[in-house]
Amino acid sequence: MPELPEVETYVRELRPQLAGKRVVSAQVGWPRIVAQPDPAQFVGMIRGRRFDDFLRRGKYMIFGLDNGQSLIVHLRMTGELRLHPAHVEADQHTHMLLELDSGEWLHYRDPRKFGRIWLVEDPSTLLHKLGPEPFDPDFTPADLHERLAGRSASIKALLLNQAILAGVGNIYADESLFLAKIDPRRAGSSLSDEETRALHVAVRSVLQAGIDGRGSSLQNYAPPSGAKGSYQDQHQVFRRTDQPCYRCGTPIQRVILAQRSTHFCPTCQE
Ligand SMILES: [Zn+2]
Repeated sequence: MPELPEVETYVRELRPQLAGKRVVSAQVGWPRIVAQPDPAQFVGMIRGRRFDDFLRRGKYMIFGLDNGQSLIVHLRMTGELRLHPAHVEADQHTHMLLELDSGEWLHYRDPRKFGRIWLVEDPSTLLHKLGPEPFDPDFTPADLHERLAGRSASIKALLLNQAILAGVGNIYADESLFLAKIDPRRAGSSLSDEETRALHVAVRSVLQAGIDGRGSSLQNYAPPSGAKGSYQDQHQVFRRTDQPCYRCGTPIQRVILAQRSTHFCPTCQE
Protein backbone atom coordinates (compact mmCIF):
# COMPACT_ATOMS: atom_id res chain seq x y z
CA MET A 1 0.00 0.00 0.00
CA PRO A 2 1.41 3.43 -0.90
CA GLU A 3 2.44 5.36 2.24
CA LEU A 4 3.57 8.96 2.69
CA PRO A 5 6.77 8.70 0.56
CA GLU A 6 4.96 6.96 -2.30
CA VAL A 7 2.03 9.41 -2.28
CA GLU A 8 4.43 12.38 -2.03
CA THR A 9 6.31 11.01 -5.07
CA TYR A 10 3.00 10.71 -6.89
CA VAL A 11 2.09 14.33 -6.21
CA ARG A 12 5.55 15.60 -7.18
CA GLU A 13 5.57 13.66 -10.45
CA LEU A 14 1.94 14.41 -11.40
CA ARG A 15 2.34 18.16 -10.78
CA PRO A 16 4.38 18.88 -13.96
CA GLN A 17 2.30 16.38 -15.93
CA LEU A 18 -1.10 17.88 -15.04
CA ALA A 19 -0.62 21.53 -14.00
CA GLY A 20 -2.72 23.93 -16.08
CA LYS A 21 -4.48 21.17 -18.03
CA ARG A 22 -8.24 21.14 -18.26
CA VAL A 23 -10.67 18.22 -18.08
CA VAL A 24 -12.65 17.85 -21.31
CA SER A 25 -14.69 14.79 -20.33
CA ALA A 26 -14.83 12.08 -17.67
CA GLN A 27 -15.87 8.44 -17.55
CA VAL A 28 -16.48 6.30 -14.48
CA GLY A 29 -16.50 2.55 -15.14
CA TRP A 30 -16.82 1.22 -11.58
CA PRO A 31 -19.26 3.52 -9.75
CA ARG A 32 -18.03 2.75 -6.21
CA ILE A 33 -14.58 4.16 -7.00
CA VAL A 34 -16.14 7.63 -6.76
CA ALA A 35 -17.11 7.99 -3.11
CA GLN A 36 -18.51 11.53 -3.41
CA PRO A 37 -20.60 12.91 -5.13
CA ASP A 38 -22.53 10.23 -7.04
CA PRO A 39 -20.72 9.25 -10.26
CA ALA A 40 -23.14 10.97 -12.67
CA GLN A 41 -22.82 14.22 -10.74
CA PHE A 42 -19.05 13.76 -10.57
CA VAL A 43 -18.78 13.48 -14.37
CA GLY A 44 -20.75 16.72 -14.78
CA MET A 45 -18.85 18.62 -12.09
CA ILE A 46 -15.28 17.70 -13.13
CA ARG A 47 -15.88 18.60 -16.79
CA GLY A 48 -14.25 21.93 -17.72
CA ARG A 49 -12.16 22.15 -14.54
CA ARG A 50 -8.43 22.94 -14.65
CA PHE A 51 -5.72 21.39 -12.40
CA ASP A 52 -4.18 24.23 -10.39
CA ASP A 53 -2.73 22.94 -7.16
CA PHE A 54 -1.07 19.72 -5.96
CA LEU A 55 -0.89 18.73 -2.31
CA ARG A 56 -0.58 15.68 -0.10
CA ARG A 57 -2.11 15.10 3.32
CA GLY A 58 -1.26 11.74 4.95
CA LYS A 59 -1.80 9.17 2.22
CA TYR A 60 -4.29 11.37 0.31
CA MET A 61 -3.54 13.29 -2.89
CA ILE A 62 -5.35 16.61 -3.14
CA PHE A 63 -5.69 18.20 -6.58
CA GLY A 64 -6.96 21.76 -6.32
CA LEU A 65 -9.16 22.84 -9.23
CA ASP A 66 -9.68 26.29 -10.75
CA ASN A 67 -13.14 26.69 -9.16
CA GLY A 68 -11.83 26.08 -5.64
CA GLN A 69 -13.04 22.49 -5.45
CA SER A 70 -10.65 19.61 -4.79
CA LEU A 71 -10.28 16.22 -6.40
CA ILE A 72 -9.02 13.87 -3.69
CA VAL A 73 -7.57 10.42 -4.43
CA HIS A 74 -6.57 7.62 -2.05
CA LEU A 75 -4.82 4.73 -3.82
CA ARG A 76 -5.27 2.18 -0.95
CA MET A 77 -3.82 -1.21 -2.05
CA THR A 78 -3.39 -1.23 -5.82
CA GLY A 79 -4.62 2.12 -7.17
CA GLU A 80 -2.53 4.00 -9.73
CA LEU A 81 -2.87 7.18 -11.76
CA ARG A 82 -1.17 7.43 -15.13
CA LEU A 83 -1.20 10.04 -17.86
CA HIS A 84 -1.35 8.38 -21.28
CA PRO A 85 -1.54 9.55 -24.90
CA ALA A 86 -5.01 9.23 -26.46
CA HIS A 87 -4.16 6.01 -28.29
CA VAL A 88 -3.51 4.00 -25.10
CA GLU A 89 -6.64 1.96 -24.43
CA ALA A 90 -8.03 1.51 -20.94
CA ASP A 91 -7.92 -2.09 -19.69
CA GLN A 92 -10.48 -3.94 -17.55
CA HIS A 93 -8.91 -2.60 -14.34
CA THR A 94 -9.24 1.08 -15.34
CA HIS A 95 -12.21 2.49 -13.43
CA MET A 96 -12.04 6.21 -14.16
CA LEU A 97 -10.79 8.23 -17.13
CA LEU A 98 -10.30 11.96 -17.50
CA GLU A 99 -9.81 13.34 -21.00
CA LEU A 100 -7.61 16.45 -20.91
CA ASP A 101 -7.37 19.42 -23.29
CA SER A 102 -3.76 18.38 -24.02
CA GLY A 103 -5.15 15.35 -25.86
CA GLU A 104 -3.92 13.04 -23.08
CA TRP A 105 -6.01 10.89 -20.76
CA LEU A 106 -5.55 10.39 -17.03
CA HIS A 107 -6.27 6.74 -16.17
CA TYR A 108 -7.22 5.60 -12.68
CA ARG A 109 -6.44 1.88 -12.59
CA ASP A 110 -7.04 -0.35 -9.57
CA PRO A 111 -7.21 -4.18 -9.82
CA ARG A 112 -8.35 -4.64 -6.19
CA LYS A 113 -10.80 -1.68 -6.35
CA PHE A 114 -10.12 -0.47 -2.78
CA GLY A 115 -9.05 3.03 -3.85
CA ARG A 116 -11.45 5.98 -3.64
CA ILE A 117 -11.97 9.35 -5.35
CA TRP A 118 -13.81 12.36 -3.96
CA LEU A 119 -14.74 15.75 -5.44
CA VAL A 120 -15.34 18.15 -2.58
CA GLU A 121 -15.73 21.85 -1.80
CA ASP A 122 -13.62 21.61 1.35
CA PRO A 123 -10.98 18.88 1.86
CA SER A 124 -11.16 19.27 5.65
CA THR A 125 -14.63 17.66 5.68
CA LEU A 126 -12.85 14.46 4.63
CA LEU A 127 -9.44 14.89 6.26
CA HIS A 128 -10.18 16.52 9.62
CA LYS A 129 -9.70 13.29 11.58
CA LEU A 130 -6.10 12.83 10.42
CA GLY A 131 -3.30 13.30 12.94
CA PRO A 132 -0.41 15.70 12.30
CA GLU A 133 1.88 15.60 9.29
CA PRO A 134 5.23 14.09 10.34
CA PHE A 135 7.21 16.99 8.81
CA ASP A 136 5.00 19.73 10.28
CA PRO A 137 7.23 21.95 12.48
CA ASP A 138 4.40 21.97 15.05
CA PHE A 139 4.67 18.19 15.40
CA THR A 140 7.21 17.83 18.22
CA PRO A 141 8.51 14.90 20.32
CA ALA A 142 6.40 16.26 23.20
CA ASP A 143 3.32 16.16 20.95
CA LEU A 144 4.08 12.54 20.00
CA HIS A 145 4.60 11.64 23.66
CA GLU A 146 1.21 13.13 24.53
CA ARG A 147 -0.47 11.22 21.71
CA LEU A 148 0.97 7.92 22.99
CA ALA A 149 0.25 8.59 26.67
CA GLY A 150 -2.18 6.14 28.25
CA ARG A 151 -2.28 3.96 25.14
CA SER A 152 -1.98 0.25 25.88
CA ALA A 153 -1.93 -0.74 22.18
CA SER A 154 1.42 -1.72 20.67
CA ILE A 155 3.58 1.12 19.38
CA LYS A 156 3.41 -0.53 15.94
CA ALA A 157 -0.40 -0.38 15.94
CA LEU A 158 -0.34 3.23 17.15
CA LEU A 159 2.04 4.30 14.35
CA LEU A 160 -0.39 2.80 11.82
CA ASN A 161 -3.29 4.74 13.36
CA GLN A 162 -3.79 7.70 10.99
CA ALA A 163 -5.55 9.70 13.71
CA ILE A 164 -2.35 9.68 15.79
CA LEU A 165 0.08 10.44 12.95
CA ALA A 166 -0.76 10.79 9.25
CA GLY A 167 1.04 8.97 6.46
CA VAL A 168 2.93 6.12 8.16
CA GLY A 169 2.03 2.57 7.05
CA ASN A 170 3.48 -0.89 7.51
CA ILE A 171 6.87 -0.43 5.82
CA TYR A 172 7.83 2.89 7.38
CA ALA A 173 6.49 1.92 10.83
CA ASP A 174 8.76 -1.17 10.93
CA GLU A 175 11.77 0.75 9.58
CA SER A 176 11.24 3.67 12.03
CA LEU A 177 11.01 1.35 15.05
CA PHE A 178 14.22 -0.42 13.99
CA LEU A 179 16.06 2.89 13.62
CA ALA A 180 14.76 4.05 17.02
CA LYS A 181 15.71 0.63 18.55
CA ILE A 182 12.21 0.13 19.96
CA ASP A 183 10.47 -3.27 20.10
CA PRO A 184 7.25 -2.91 18.04
CA ARG A 185 5.29 -5.02 20.57
CA ARG A 186 5.69 -2.54 23.43
CA ALA A 187 2.72 -0.52 24.65
CA GLY A 188 2.72 3.05 23.33
CA SER A 189 2.45 4.36 26.89
CA SER A 190 5.67 2.57 27.92
CA LEU A 191 7.98 4.75 25.79
CA SER A 192 10.24 7.06 27.79
CA ASP A 193 10.79 10.70 26.79
CA GLU A 194 14.14 9.71 25.34
CA GLU A 195 12.64 6.85 23.31
CA THR A 196 9.85 9.09 22.03
CA ARG A 197 12.44 11.61 20.88
CA ALA A 198 14.37 8.85 19.10
CA LEU A 199 11.18 7.63 17.43
CA HIS A 200 10.26 11.16 16.33
CA VAL A 201 13.68 11.55 14.69
CA ALA A 202 13.49 8.05 13.17
CA VAL A 203 10.03 8.55 11.62
CA ARG A 204 11.14 11.75 9.88
CA SER A 205 14.46 10.26 8.80
CA VAL A 206 12.92 7.09 7.34
CA LEU A 207 10.12 8.98 5.57
CA GLN A 208 12.62 11.47 4.10
CA ALA A 209 14.84 8.64 2.87
CA GLY A 210 11.72 7.04 1.36
CA ILE A 211 10.86 10.27 -0.46
CA ASP A 212 14.46 10.64 -1.66
CA GLY A 213 14.26 7.08 -3.05
CA ARG A 214 10.90 7.90 -4.75
CA GLY A 215 9.22 5.28 -2.54
CA SER A 216 9.47 1.52 -2.09
CA SER A 217 8.52 -0.49 -5.17
CA LEU A 218 7.45 -3.93 -3.91
CA GLN A 219 4.57 -5.72 -5.71
CA ASN A 220 2.33 -2.98 -7.00
CA TYR A 221 3.68 0.49 -6.52
CA ALA A 222 5.49 2.35 -9.29
CA PRO A 223 5.60 6.16 -9.49
CA PRO A 224 3.68 7.95 -12.29
CA SER A 225 6.86 8.47 -14.31
CA GLY A 226 7.11 4.68 -14.63
CA ALA A 227 10.63 4.23 -13.24
CA LYS A 228 10.53 2.19 -10.02
CA GLY A 229 11.21 3.60 -6.58
CA SER A 230 14.42 2.46 -4.87
CA TYR A 231 13.84 2.65 -1.11
CA GLN A 232 13.12 -1.12 -0.94
CA ASP A 233 16.90 -1.57 -1.39
CA GLN A 234 17.49 0.25 1.91
CA HIS A 235 14.99 -1.68 4.04
CA GLN A 236 16.67 -2.85 7.25
CA VAL A 237 13.90 -5.16 8.52
CA PHE A 238 10.79 -4.99 6.33
CA ARG A 239 10.26 -8.37 4.57
CA ARG A 240 13.72 -9.55 5.73
CA THR A 241 12.35 -12.36 7.96
CA ASP A 242 15.09 -14.86 9.00
CA GLN A 243 17.80 -12.83 7.26
CA PRO A 244 20.62 -11.48 9.45
CA CYS A 245 20.22 -8.02 10.98
CA TYR A 246 22.64 -5.65 9.21
CA ARG A 247 23.67 -4.25 12.59
CA CYS A 248 24.11 -7.36 14.78
CA GLY A 249 23.57 -10.48 12.65
CA THR A 250 20.54 -11.80 14.63
CA PRO A 251 17.84 -13.22 12.30
CA ILE A 252 15.02 -10.70 11.72
CA GLN A 253 11.76 -11.88 13.31
CA ARG A 254 8.24 -11.55 11.97
CA VAL A 255 5.16 -11.30 14.17
CA ILE A 256 1.59 -10.15 13.53
CA LEU A 257 0.54 -6.90 15.24
CA ALA A 258 -2.68 -5.04 14.45
CA GLN A 259 -3.28 -7.80 11.85
CA ARG A 260 -0.18 -6.68 9.96
CA SER A 261 3.16 -8.39 9.39
CA THR A 262 5.73 -6.76 11.63
CA HIS A 263 9.48 -7.19 11.20
CA PHE A 264 12.11 -6.44 13.85
CA CYS A 265 15.48 -7.41 15.30
CA PRO A 266 14.98 -9.03 18.73
CA THR A 267 18.51 -8.02 19.75
CA CYS A 268 18.68 -4.39 18.58
CA GLN A 269 15.10 -3.46 19.51
CA GLU A 270 14.02 -3.53 23.14
ZN1 LIG B 1 20.08 -6.39 15.24
